[in-house]
Amino acid sequence: MSKVIGIDLGTTNSCVAIWEGNQPRILSNFNGDRTMPSVVAFTASGERLVGMPARNQQITNPTATIYSIKRFMGRRHNEVRGEEKIVPYEIVGNGHEFVKVKVKRRRCTPQEISAMILRELKAMAEDYLGESVSRAVITVPAYFNDSQRQATKDAGEIAGLTVERIINEPTAAALAYGLEQRVNKKIIVFDFGGGTFDLSAMEIGDNFFKVYAVHGNTHLGGDDFDQRIIDVVADDFRRKERIDIRQESMALQRLKEAAEQAKTELSFREETTIMLPFICVDGSGPKHIQYTMERERFESVCADLFDDLGDCCKKLMHDVGWSSLDIEDVVMVGGSTRIPKVQEIAMEVFQTLELDKSINPDEVVALGAAILAGVLQGDLKRIKLMDVTSHSLGVETVRGGVAPLLERNTPIPVATRKIFSTPKNNQTSVPINIIEGETTKAKLNNSLGIFQLTGIPRAPRGVPQIEVEFAIDANGILKVSATDVDSGKSQNIVITGGVGLDRNQIERMKITASANDQKNEIKQDLLDLRNHAESVFHDIQKWLEYNSKLMPPRTVEQIINILKKLKKKINKGDKVGIRLMLKKLDEVVNPYREAA
Ligand code: AMP
Repeated sequence: MSKVIGIDLGTTNSCVAIWEGNQPRILSNFNGDRTMPSVVAFTASGERLVGMPARNQQITNPTATIYSIKRFMGRRHNEVRGEEKIVPYEIVGNGHEFVKVKVKRRRCTPQEISAMILRELKAMAEDYLGESVSRAVITVPAYFNDSQRQATKDAGEIAGLTVERIINEPTAAALAYGLEQRVNKKIIVFDFGGGTFDLSAMEIGDNFFKVYAVHGNTHLGGDDFDQRIIDVVADDFRRKERIDIRQESMALQRLKEAAEQAKTELSFREETTIMLPFICVDGSGPKHIQYTMERERFESVCADLFDDLGDCCKKLMHDVGWSSLDIEDVVMVGGSTRIPKVQEIAMEVFQTLELDKSINPDEVVALGAAILAGVLQGDLKRIKLMDVTSHSLGVETVRGGVAPLLERNTPIPVATRKIFSTPKNNQTSVPINIIEGETTKAKLNNSLGIFQLTGIPRAPRGVPQIEVEFAIDANGILKVSATDVDSGKSQNIVITGGVGLDRNQIERMKITASANDQKNEIKQDLLDLRNHAESVFHDIQKWLEYNSKLMPPRTVEQIINILKKLKKKINKGDKVGIRLMLKKLDEVVNPYREAA
């Protein structure tokens, strides 16, 4: 059976793992890195960079370097006002439209950007396995809604992967954590990464993993703490120098990196100093930043973020109805769980003196995905995964309310049916707005799309009986179907305004993505050839300085001419010309070099 890869598609970093032999294995890239920054960049020369090379040039190319794209997956513009302000790249879309990223003159969906990251991870796995890979398990935050899950699945397909399963990150972490355990126990998975916060209350048993409740915040992550530090330092600088550093994209990018570093240091030290020499220049000369922040100050400027974390934990405990005595372990996952205050909150709310940090928090989710991959490829005996819906689901009523169909934390997969009819005589179509969320006002929740029932036979109002089924699959993704009760015929459903890309769009994006890969490869070839030609040029120039006196003047002149032409071809990027000149150089120079 073909290999399935397990992918943790993270906000900050991503990771790929496989099931090999008897255990999950994290794959590293050619550099030995076990995680890859979830960053994509488009350079001035038209190259596309993914991972560390993209991250390395972020300071000098901030508007075309896309990071934290996960925060925009499956999001409408009015949901990301906060996020939009803190990223230096351009987000486009109006109100209810799903957002896109504008890079240079191109508009990309977040799915396409994520697909670029996924293609890189897929390539890493193919390099390691020596065979092509087309099947994957991809993880998402448990608190991701339907649009975000659908967008992640689409990203996988654009990357040329059949997404066998979308699995919740805390569930994946529990799989890795529980692999060796054979006793029944109730645990909390506390997953706090770069952009999302996720909590799951679950039970681990011999070969089963049962989720009872999830809670979280997909707008809260390590990036938000960085932003608070940025604001404190930038405000201080503005007070002293009357310059707002946030308006200068390169300086802001330097500050952002320093802020993240400072936050990380404050996890181990009581204070840290941010030093950014020559951050900008004004009429009076160059300006520098030197700002010392104590852990206490960090905690006070982030107090509301910590409160949000605590509130989420309390809500989870309320939903699941457990007392702290029921909980045997609190498993910490994600880079932001290293913040001491975060650990303090977890210990306080769940009333425990110890947190489980036994598995590397950066790798545990990918390891869990690889375990499920092992099950799917038949290498591991079946494990029963019982997950729940993260949000309630309903339909908008005539008065703008919500008629509930499925409560949050309902075990999945699940299907539910509801009968709809026509409010007017002879109506042949009815719009049904599917609402996801917890408030009773439709407008304040997330619309998953309007389903238009069409082809209803003409009849007095209220007579047609159309049964609509909402089915949530094991991936947490909703599928809708409708049947005319009288005739038993299925109805047409046209979805408008949903995030799901249709098959044609996905196929088009897939083709563009693979063409871009080829273009990238061609560009890389040219780059390599140019570098090689440059070094040959300099070698021979140097060699000529010492050896020209030993050669006939005509040959020396001939070599100088070829070198001049080679330089021109290198500057033009003329691959054929470069190769031709290199060959000529070989022919003319080699007899003398060999003789020497
Ligand atoms: P993840 O999504 O799990 O890779 O987590 C990434 C987030 O963890 C980023 O916001 C990092 O800045 C943050 N992080 C990593 N190490 C630390 C640390 N030692 N202290 C605080 N935050 C950290």
